[in-house]
Amino acid sequence: TSIVDWTKSESYHNSFLIAKDDVLDFAVKNCIDHGLPDIAVGATQGKLLNLIARSIGAKRILEVGTLGGYSTIWMGRALPDEGTLISLEIDEKHVKAGLEDKCKITVGPAGESMENLHPDVPFDLIFIDADKASYPKYFTEAKRLVKKGGVILVDNVVFFGLVSDLSVTDEDLLHFVDGTRQLLADLKGDMEIEATTIATVGERGFDGFMYIVRK
Ligand code: SAM
Repeated sequence: TSIVDWTKSESYHNSFLIAKDDVLDFAVKNCIDHGLPDIAVGATQGKLLNLIARSIGAKRILEVGTLGGYSTIWMGRALPDEGTLISLEIDEKHVKAGLEDKCKITVGPAGESMENLHPDVPFDLIFIDADKASYPKYFTEAKRLVKKGGVILVDNVVFFGLVSDLSVTDEDLLHFVDGTRQLLADLKGDMEIEATTIATVGERGFDGFMYIVRK
């Protein structure tokens, strides 16, 4: 077997499945121009978020970790006219102007912003994609905020295989995987959810989403 070029594999699929998109291209360029890190989801994952939101008929979406609004745009587009999306971001400069009216950004530490949310109607979909160390906290709050039968998605839960590589001792790397490991431990005994990992591969290497359904 030959060594597979996963970037090529992903672009091959996307050349059939994902059309060129000026708004999303602008969001990417805007991130670069403002010196934001290149850590938004890719087009493949962005479209998956959009399709999941549409499949479950999401009307209320909560996002944890906005960056430049790339994933926000993908999910916002899945909403019906009366839908709303709230996105939580700690860094004011990461908040991009020009999102649709349906999308509101709350600036501040997401743990506190989530604690302050007491919506009359719970969320249909919650996408967690901020600092990995806080994943257990974000999950606890997400469970409170999502409706029964609703979906919680968590990004970067494979993280190049490092989450499951217990030989990792580098503090900088542990910072990216410890929270996910704790989340997995928390999910194991939790009778109020069902969850699985969607492992992905492409231009950003190996990673994955956790797909959690609130029972
Ligand atoms: N979801 C975005 C996308 O795919 O386009 C990418 C989000 S990026 C991976 C993570 C974001 O979480 C960064 O913009 C970072 O500033 C933000 N963040 C980090 N710690 C945070 C915290 N404690 N509260 C809220 N946001 C935080």
